[in-house]
Amino acid sequence: MVKMKTMTCKQLGGACDLEFHADTFEEMAEQSKKHGMEMFQSGDVGHLRAMHKMKELMQSPGAMTEWFENKRKEFDALPPGTPKS
Ligand SMILES: [Zn+2]
Repeated sequence: MVKMKTMTCKQLGGACDLEFHADTFEEMAEQSKKHGMEMFQSGDVGHLRAMHKMKELMQSPGAMTEWFENKRKEFDALPPGTPKS
């Protein structure tokens, strides 16, 4: 069994409750990014707002790294296993 972890779009700085399942944080971030781009392209207002906030955050040096590290810690603290397959 693969020990996947689950995080939602919202937990990763997004705007909806879509769940991402991944073994590593990098994979998780990648899925979140891809989803964010799709929502951005479809012009979803909630995600546009969330993305704008992230952009503002990235303006200050080190903020993105800090955000990333915090999320990684959150990911590491998650119990493994998917509630739904
Ligand atoms: Zn989303």
